[in-house]
Amino acid sequence: MICPTCHEVMIVVEQDKIELDHCTKCFGVWFDSGELELMLERMGLDSSALSLAKIADLPDVKTAEKKWHCPICGKKMKKAHIGREPEVLIDVCPRGDGLWFDGGEVYQIIEQCAQKSGAGLDSEDRVLAFLGDTFKAEG
Ligand SMILES: [Zn+2]
Ligand SMILES: [Zn+2]
Repeated sequence: MICPTCHEVMIVVEQDKIELDHCTKCFGVWFDSGELELMLERMGLDSSALSLAKIADLPDVKTAEKKWHCPICGKKMKKAHIGREPEVLIDVCPRGDGLWFDGGEVYQIIEQCAQKSGAGLDSEDRVLAFLGDTFKAEG
């Protein structure tokens, strides 16, 4: 798959049999819809708690950040906030193909996870923690 922000070919990163596409140039990560559901299932979470459809329904955040095109369907992705303190601005395909996290966002997530490890995590936090675990080792 081609990185939506810098157009490099992404590598596949696997954790717990869930495959994510990762760009080694800008450090972004793409989650496709099946992978997100699989991850929620594996965590014993109701996938409706953080479904792509739900994220795709969030209001499009007004931001100066450039809009990227979905690497699957080519449509412009929406910006959505997930997480807290700080919120992470992610890109979501309006058709529900998947989610895109910029490299900087992955770092924010790792920091958030480092700060609240062990605390009672809700479904969004667990997704963020998963990403933190996946990319910690990558440096
Ligand atoms: Zn990239
Ligand atoms: Zn799409």
